[in-house]
Amino acid sequence: MAKKQFKAESKQLLNLMINSIYTHREIFLREIISNASDAIDKLHYKSITEADIPVSREDFRIDVRIDSENGCVVVSDNGIGMTKEDMDANLGVIAHSGSLDFKKEVESDDVDIIGQFGVGFYSSFLVSDKVTVRSKAYGDDQAWEWTSSGSDGYTVKECEKESWGTDVIMHIRPDDENEKYSSYLDEYTLEDLVKKYSDYVRWPIHMQLEKGSMEETGETDEDGNPKREWVTRVEDTVVNSMVPIWQRRKDEVSDEDCMKFYREKFRDYEDPVSVIRVNAEGSVTYRAMLFIPKVAPYNFYSRDFEPGLQLYSAGVMIMDKCKDLLPECFRFVKGIVDSPDLSLNISREMLQHDRQLNMIKSNLEKKIKAELLRLMEEEPETYGEFYRNFGRQLKYGIVEDYGMKAELLKDLIMFHSYEKDEPITLKSYVESMHEGQEKIYFATAESVTRAKQLPQTEQVRDKGYDILCLTEDVDEFVTRTLREYEGKEFCDVSGNDLGLETEEEMKNSEEREEAEKDTLDFIKDILGDKVSSVKLSRKLKTHAVCLTSEGDVSLEMEKYFSSIPGEQSEMVKAKRVLEINPDHPAYSALKDAIGREGGRAESMDRIRYGQAVLIAGMPMDDVLDLSEDIFKLF
Ligand code: ADP
Repeated sequence: MAKKQFKAESKQLLNLMINSIYTHREIFLREIISNASDAIDKLHYKSITEADIPVSREDFRIDVRIDSENGCVVVSDNGIGMTKEDMDANLGVIAHSGSLDFKKEVESDDVDIIGQFGVGFYSSFLVSDKVTVRSKAYGDDQAWEWTSSGSDGYTVKECEKESWGTDVIMHIRPDDENEKYSSYLDEYTLEDLVKKYSDYVRWPIHMQLEKGSMEETGETDEDGNPKREWVTRVEDTVVNSMVPIWQRRKDEVSDEDCMKFYREKFRDYEDPVSVIRVNAEGSVTYRAMLFIPKVAPYNFYSRDFEPGLQLYSAGVMIMDKCKDLLPECFRFVKGIVDSPDLSLNISREMLQHDRQLNMIKSNLEKKIKAELLRLMEEEPETYGEFYRNFGRQLKYGIVEDYGMKAELLKDLIMFHSYEKDEPITLKSYVESMHEGQEKIYFATAESVTRAKQLPQTEQVRDKGYDILCLTEDVDEFVTRTLREYEGKEFCDVSGNDLGLETEEEMKNSEEREEAEKDTLDFIKDILGDKVSSVKLSRKLKTHAVCLTSEGDVSLEMEKYFSSIPGEQSEMVKAKRVLEINPDHPAYSALKDAIGREGGRAESMDRIRYGQAVLIAGMPMDDVLDLSEDIFKLF
């Protein structure tokens, strides 16, 4: 079967899935345990926030058991459980959609399944040919049994179950040439997996483990010493260490531990670029462990991406993705905040107005910025890598909310330097400004190469000044929001006045403009309202023409707005200025042609304008007319 190509963003995810899932089937246990832990969190939360719930914290447990007779691994919890409807809604979709045969999906069109279902519960099928879930919701009298063997759908029927909670019974597949599934029926393998992946789960994970020791038999040998022998016993053992990593002392937890925790908890295949650990006491007490990722999730720049930090109050999870803890500009940060000062009963609406929460938020904001600045200075390469993925987000952050966060972010963003040919900060631009240079010059185009080719860069480059090449949609909005950096204004090289001439030079060019008035008027007449004015250029040195703009709307703005659907696209138009280099041979040629027969001058004029439009990277409306004009000159 011919394979089709995926969208770029899906590709990254697919690689991750294929490489990690199919080579690491073992993660199924982590996923199932994590669901069990979530279910206990939910019941625990309920028991604290509602009256008359007779469960106590000590009773909660997760059990991992092997049923060797039936070839099954069983994970049980005494959490919130599921009703029949829950089962349909939560477990049903997967089998319904027939998407269990993931490999087949990978080779077909439909790759959306990944986004829709995550790896979660579904991963049990990586090692099982049949999965049975028996569950009783807390407060319900009836238990239900859900069974599926994969793509052929599922059944739900009534069953007997004494107490609330859930058993996930995974019937392990027979071994094949690639995979020795039967190793999952070995208790030491399972114990290792629990330690490896689920050590920080906050609830005890019990296993019945065989333990051996030398014990006295009660008899004595001929010398009268007690006889001893090796005895094995099955003991109920808690396998995981439970204390959450963010609650441990900093010196107890290595960076490697944090990285491992991050990869598992936030399902990233790359280490983060930074770990920020906060242990605050005072007006508000909290611990936080934040991570700055290296790579953006595939949906980061889409609406599907849900930012937020996980919020705990003294070890009880209150919210999975608490948005109110993170400023929008740092929405890429992942992590956990745990504060005993927060009320468990707090609702999403109340959170926004919570004083403590706001204090934590503003503290974290400072810490994140400080860490990014540190990275930038001490590990520029790592920062560069981070910046390639998230720089755009920082720029959006500047523009959003009327520039509220501009101050916070202006030192973190970078633009491509014409001179150094690499991204630089505004600080670095301003520091290497020349004597007498008053402005921060920038050129906007769809790529660095195009920006450098813009004729209007000539005058600035001639002075030896660096130019920032702006290539992203958001860039020009950033310069408009910031307006200046350390007292130096931003100046578009395609704008009207670059402020580079002395008074004397200005006077000279005004005189020249006056002298050439007839020719300029001729040009303007031919072009009509295509341009708002035609003038002699002070920007151009070697090039013949360029297109610039006057007024508030720049050419790049016009381009940007015309790319988004809606009324604005028609309304936002730049006032175009055709700038002409009077020292270019093309200018004298035009002057020669004016007044002669055959419309040669008119053609030359329209071609001149067409060239300027093309160089500026603006769309050409009348390509055929232009081509006609060119052929007329042959
Ligand atoms: P996720 O955990 O990412 O939501 P899963 O596919 O792992 O996705 O699980 C789907 C849903 O099934 C869970 O959100 C939860 O509502 C329910 N579920 C799974 N396992 C359990 C369990 N042990 N107890 C209660 N509900 C569960």
